[in-house]
Amino acid sequence: MQGQMMNVPLTITTVMEHARLYHAKREIISAIDPQSTHKTTYGEAFERAAQLANALAALGCKPGERIATLAWNDYRHFEIYYALTCSGAILHTINPRLFEEQLVYIINHAEDQWIFLDPDFVPLLENIQDDIPNVKGFITLCDEKQTPKTSLKNIRCYETLLSEQKSDFEWPELDEYSACSLCYTSGTTGNPKGVLYSHRSIVVHALSVSMLDASGFSANDIVLSIVPMFHVHAWGLPFRAPMIGSKLVFPGRYLGNGEVLQNLITKEKVSFAVGVPTIWQLLIDYLEQSGKKIEPLRRAIVGGAACPQSLFDQFSNEYDVELIQGWGMTELGSVGTVNIPGPDFEHLNEAEKKSSVLKQGRPIFGVQVKITDDEGKELPWDGQTSGHLYVRGPNVCNSYFSQESDEFAVNGWFMTGDVANIAADGTVQITDRSKDLIKSGGEWISSIEIENCALTHPQITEAAVIGAKHEKWGERPFLIAVKRAEDSSSAEDILNWFDGKIASWWKPDNILFVEELPHTATGKVSKLSLREKYGEFFIK
Ligand code: AMP
Repeated sequence: MQGQMMNVPLTITTVMEHARLYHAKREIISAIDPQSTHKTTYGEAFERAAQLANALAALGCKPGERIATLAWNDYRHFEIYYALTCSGAILHTINPRLFEEQLVYIINHAEDQWIFLDPDFVPLLENIQDDIPNVKGFITLCDEKQTPKTSLKNIRCYETLLSEQKSDFEWPELDEYSACSLCYTSGTTGNPKGVLYSHRSIVVHALSVSMLDASGFSANDIVLSIVPMFHVHAWGLPFRAPMIGSKLVFPGRYLGNGEVLQNLITKEKVSFAVGVPTIWQLLIDYLEQSGKKIEPLRRAIVGGAACPQSLFDQFSNEYDVELIQGWGMTELGSVGTVNIPGPDFEHLNEAEKKSSVLKQGRPIFGVQVKITDDEGKELPWDGQTSGHLYVRGPNVCNSYFSQESDEFAVNGWFMTGDVANIAADGTVQITDRSKDLIKSGGEWISSIEIENCALTHPQITEAAVIGAKHEKWGERPFLIAVKRAEDSSSAEDILNWFDGKIASWWKPDNILFVEELPHTATGKVSKLSLREKYGEFFIK
């Protein structure tokens, strides 16, 4: 028997309509240079999204087509989020920090038709435009005066496109299961993989993560998104803030600028913010140097990588900010668990409280977790036994976009590539990573690609790259290599080998020559033993 309730689809259009009707006057602030900001409202932003949807229709864009953005966090990117998804097109947010080969791969793999770009990224696209022949044209996110001279073909100006269009659009009624956006993430091996979100997954995730015991905020909060909008929709904030009716603050291109962030927090009275550990550390360093404060900030969410104890201590002792840890993945439409202190927290002693905040937290509504051994046998939830962490739920990726085999999907569960223990109450603690990736400042580095490059050096016979701890970046690549006995190359010679062959920020920070590398029973280099031996190695 079917329920007799209305079949109103959970789409991003419902978020837009809700905010347009009930939160139209709430502000969106964007930093446009270190000193000044741009102000708009949800009402105005959605009118401009309608103008943009008309402009895209005039350019011949069709539902289901992928349209990319290479853009910072600001009001124009926010408008594009809604214009594309609510008109049935697919928003493909691209990480501009990828290097050219990867950009070419994902633009071609996604079959992007148009690319919106901040003027900063014009040179990047000029370099690769001959390799992305399917892209019909480029739309610069500025007005005519600011449009740079460029060799990019079929270039349009965003503000001009909008000015030619009316500010209402007949938004189609979309199926909640239809695709709305695409974000690529690094795979353990091979090329980046695309996660294709549905409207429903975005809305369900936004609702679950907005609960008070997840990382909820209210219409009285002022919310700052320091997580880039090209990284898993800035953890959902551009959907959550309009849903709730909170004022939204975007730092523009100044995501890594402590001074601008401090200024925005105090001037705009930001009370809630999200960021990766590296960004929070950078802000704390700036505050320490300048003696400035961040008084309005009450709660900050940290995630994307393991967060050091010192950051929790500094936030709470020196700045009276509650720092809350979350764990998530691109494949989860961002958040999987959040560590909000529950009713039992007060009964812990000080040492237990300290170690408790370092855990990744309990699953948000809808996310199921389990851990298994190498053979797939489920392991107990005793807070001690570590195993491969699997997840399932309405916001979890089922299969990658246009990808034949999915080694991550096992019997309806998604294998995260993280290794964790789970306590009896469902608290997850990440203890290791089985995927061969290094997370530096919140961005992935493929250890395999560095190893392959190292092995092209005529004097290197075997190479392994692991993530070593780093004060600022969390992890940095550390190369452990075996070289030919007669070779006299120095570490510096070998490190110079990487110049121009891989992205400069992927270059290992350090190299250690060893006689031999440890191997597993199947003859593979044992990264686990190397991580056990050298993973605590600290690169300054
Ligand atoms: P991404 O898909 O780029 O968001 O990266 C997801 C991965 O980042 C996870 O699978 C973890 O390896 C790592 N990660 C995310 N949040 C945390 C956290 N709070 N602690 C430790 N690692 C994390």
